[in-house]
Amino acid sequence: MAKRDYYEVLGISGNASEAEIKKAYRRLAMKYHPDRNTGDKAKAAEKHFKEAKEAYEVLSDAQKRAAYDQFGHAGVDPNMGAAGAGAADFGDIFGNVFGDIFGGRGGQGAGVQRGDDLRYNLELSLEDAVAGKSVQIKVPTLVNCDTCNGSGAKPGSEPKTCSTCRGQGQVRMQQGFFSIQQACPSCHGKGFSIDKPCMPCRGRGRVQETKTLSVKVPQGVDTGDRIRLSGEGEAGENGAPAGDLYVQVAVKKHPIFRREESHLHCEMPVGFTTAALGGETEVPTLAGKVKLKIPEGTQTGKMFRVRGKGVKPVRGGPQGDLLCRILVETPINLDKTQRELLRQLEDSFMDNGKQHTPNAYGWLDKVKNFLKR
Ligand SMILES: [Zn+2]
Ligand SMILES: [Zn+2]
Repeated sequence: MAKRDYYEVLGISGNASEAEIKKAYRRLAMKYHPDRNTGDKAKAAEKHFKEAKEAYEVLSDAQKRAAYDQFGHAGVDPNMGAAGAGAADFGDIFGNVFGDIFGGRGGQGAGVQRGDDLRYNLELSLEDAVAGKSVQIKVPTLVNCDTCNGSGAKPGSEPKTCSTCRGQGQVRMQQGFFSIQQACPSCHGKGFSIDKPCMPCRGRGRVQETKTLSVKVPQGVDTGDRIRLSGEGEAGENGAPAGDLYVQVAVKKHPIFRREESHLHCEMPVGFTTAALGGETEVPTLAGKVKLKIPEGTQTGKMFRVRGKGVKPVRGGPQGDLLCRILVETPINLDKTQRELLRQLEDSFMDNGKQHTPNAYGWLDKVKNFLKR
């Protein structure tokens, strides 16, 4: 992810004096010092401490500060760049549809750095994930600067092609027998320089902004799916192409249904009388209730399949089923009369128990045989 602006890190303005920079750093260093932040605060403090130290090291050095003001993080750290969300190593839902319309990464000549990819975590209810939905999301990001149209040069001026590398961003250096290619030291590999930087973006061509985007979530997405929005990541520096935005889907736990591939599962309690005598019950589905016939003598754990009431998978394939597992419920809180009635019922089984509770008898036989061995 993008590095925070050094001025922002120290909480100072872009034209802060050397003394102000030192003061701001001292304050933060005290606040986040490891000696003062122990236990569970330690980790976050260490991160802030390091961040402040790095910002101070750059901004307190006049030369580095000038480079940073003009080129941003890329000006002081040649290794800084795209966080590299590895464009192809995950199953993009839309990968084959939108992929590479914008040319993808690499091969942009000179040293212009494509903007970073962004990731947005989107939580959806099971209903929305199954039916699909358009959602509005707010993404803090870097966008092209309006003032300079992303070039980074003050309006009326233009970035100048670097004379050292003639705009290539790379120079060849002779080292012993070898000729090696290196990022151009004059322009830090960019291929151009900006004499008069644009003020609002300090010459970087992009500014911080929270973008509101509409994401069309397709029907049937599941936890782990990603939706790629090409070119909706961070703007590149100085007009370089933008990165992509990856919307990472997570489906919330549902009180009734559990999804497994294209099928939905649920557990349904049924009173023991209905289970014994048979009857009809209503099963909830994502598309309303359906009637389910409970046959006489239904045992607990019995699975019923309601065809076509599952999920239509996002990558295609037939709509799944709803699998409903019956849980026969043992009655509780019985009063005296009810207990008596149950006893009477049990007594009536006595004569021919094998016929009424075959599983119990079958199991007893198994135990007997087991003990005989
Ligand atoms: Zn600008
Ligand atoms: Zn150059």
